[in-house]
Amino acid sequence: MKSGRTISIKSDKLKKIRNNLRNILLCEAINRQANISKEEKKVLFDEFGKIIISKDRSKTDNDLLGKFQDEWWKLERLKRKSICECSYCRKTDSDMTYYSKEWICSECYQSNRH
Ligand SMILES: [Zn+2]
Repeated sequence: MKSGRTISIKSDKLKKIRNNLRNILLCEAINRQANISKEEKKVLFDEFGKIIISKDRSKTDNDLLGKFQDEWWKLERLKRKSICECSYCRKTDSDMTYYSKEWICSECYQSNRH
């Protein structure tokens, strides 16, 4: 027997507000990840667009790349664990159910995709 807790919204107006708020949060996370990737490329590639392999980079640059990866994945984990998107199908406009330490959309929860 499933024991998930569903947060369900009936009003179409409230659903629209919820979905817009989710989109704002997800867009902000995606923009931050894009900025991190842009900074990462400045370290990864030389002025001719050729990739600089790890052994040819300075320790400072390799440390910087590690920091960028940590920041990017921190945002990704926040997105995946948030109520803003389904952990399985990435849907963002459904009622969500909290089950087994994850937020799952109603469709995935009902279809036992988790
Ligand atoms: Zn889903």
